[in-house]
Amino acid sequence: MASDCLFCKIVAGDIPAKCLYEDELCLCFADINPQAPTHLLLISKLHLPSLAHATPQHAPLLGHLLAKAGEVARSHTLDRGYRVVLNTGADGGQTVDHLHLHLLGGRPMAWPPG
Ligand code: 5GP
Ligand code: ZN
Repeated sequence: MASDCLFCKIVAGDIPAKCLYEDELCLCFADINPQAPTHLLLISKLHLPSLAHATPQHAPLLGHLLAKAGEVARSHTLDRGYRVVLNTGADGGQTVDHLHLHLLGGRPMAWPPG
């Protein structure tokens, strides 16, 4: 845990979040500033600042997050499709430096992204 990290504080329960799914590796909760009718975050419990900090040893964790995103999408009946986003670094638009996936759905998504 990084003491100054917002998402580590959510994992620790120090900051409340509307938890929708939790297991030993990850936590899923609603984004505080939703960009779509469904906008969930899947975060690792491990403090990893970004995908750019991942090494081959993190491959099982990364696979787990992606697989869970698909499961959560199914449980939210996003049958028409959805988007999984992993913002990385300044140019990637990352604002919280703790590995997380966005799961966005419930409306058509544009391409290319902004
Ligand atoms: P990023 O920009 O790093 O890819 O995504 C960070 C996301 O975290 C943003 O979509 C932002 O709305 C969300 N967020 C920031 N602070 C909080 C918070 O305190 N609670 C929740 N649930 N989401 C947050
Ligand atoms: Zn953290």
